[in-house]
Amino acid sequence: MLMTNTYSSEELMALEDKYGAHNYHPLPVVLAKGEGVFVWDVEGKRYYDFLSAYSAINQGHCHPRIIDAMINQARTLTLTSRAFYNNMLGRFEKHITDLFGYDKVLAMNSGVEAVETALKLCRKWAYKVKNIPYNEAKIIFVTGNFHGRTMAVISGSTDPDSTSHYGPYMPGWEIIPYNDLDALKEAVKDPKVAGFLVEPIQGEAGVFVPDDNYLPEAFKICKEANVLFIADEVQTGIARTGKMLCTDHAGIRPDIVILGKALSGGAMPVSAVLADDEIMLTIKPGEHGSTFGGNPLGCAVAMAALDVVVDEKLADRAEYLGKIFRERMQSLVDKSDLVNLVRGKGLLNAVVINDTEDSKTAWNICVKLAENGLLAKPTHGNIIRFAPPLVMTEEQIEECATIIENTILSFEA
Ligand code: PLP
Repeated sequence: MLMTNTYSSEELMALEDKYGAHNYHPLPVVLAKGEGVFVWDVEGKRYYDFLSAYSAINQGHCHPRIIDAMINQARTLTLTSRAFYNNMLGRFEKHITDLFGYDKVLAMNSGVEAVETALKLCRKWAYKVKNIPYNEAKIIFVTGNFHGRTMAVISGSTDPDSTSHYGPYMPGWEIIPYNDLDALKEAVKDPKVAGFLVEPIQGEAGVFVPDDNYLPEAFKICKEANVLFIADEVQTGIARTGKMLCTDHAGIRPDIVILGKALSGGAMPVSAVLADDEIMLTIKPGEHGSTFGGNPLGCAVAMAALDVVVDEKLADRAEYLGKIFRERMQSLVDKSDLVNLVRGKGLLNAVVINDTEDSKTAWNICVKLAENGLLAKPTHGNIIRFAPPLVMTEEQIEECATIIENTILSFEA
């Protein structure tokens, strides 16, 4: 397939290198088109997408229902600001709160803005409801977290790549070890603790799945201490792990849920924070917002994106295909000295390569995978995350498992 593009991949990479900030280190593949589980580079080579834009493309690339909703709305009204009502926001708000079972939603754009919103809501609640003395509220983060790139959020990060030379950092965050209930029990003894922010599975850290009892017990500990349990489901949410929310696996209902990425099926930035009135109504007019948050275009897109997830039963599909994928990867672990272990839930999985974190092995495997028609990216050196669109067929996931298996085995040889 020939793309309408007069530049070669080499030329386009050179342009990014010369004119763009060097804040990413992409694989040497230049993509020009996407459809369903596939993407194509500018020379027309087709790949299976096993990153899905960090789980934003759960519904598959350019899903026709989402794109139709987007085009129709874009022709009608895109942005009003919140200075006025618009005819889509209320409908989106009802749609998403009905679906997830919360009193209210606050719409933003990027994932990190929704995390910031949740942190601000938590502090407001701390002062207005929990009656913590002003400016003394604390929020607990965990080691290995990833919540985005703003100053407030990196202040709670333990990743030196995220934090180095960006200080001074935000006060009021306390960091405890992930998957450590004793540490949480100890931390919430402080009456100034207002919230606990956690990813149900740590995606960026390398798909770390906590112990089965971690989330339910952590939730209980928070409830007993009157501490808000805040789930960052930006990567794990919207069917990725085999349930609409990853916290559904644990049978808990977080006080605050943060969504982004697949909330728009990757069509544009749409994020949201869900909470009940006691929390959400602590923020009053003029105290928080965003020019683009809740824009009619984003609302139309997000409603279509959620409908696709429900109508196409993508949570069930992720659950089913994930089991097949992990079984295949487990057999690779048994066959190969290079692959240490596979872990994940639904279609959020990773394999750990038997090498040091600073080795090039996982990177080289991903370059080879790309040559063989499958795109994935290492996270933290020796871990490769596999997160394809959830609209895969069983046949396709088997074919992809074979590509991964053959690539790694050939690599070993
Ligand atoms: N929270 C989690 C769990 C994420 O994985 C990410 C992005 O990877 C974010 C927040 C930030 O989202 P965004 O990049 O849209 O700001």
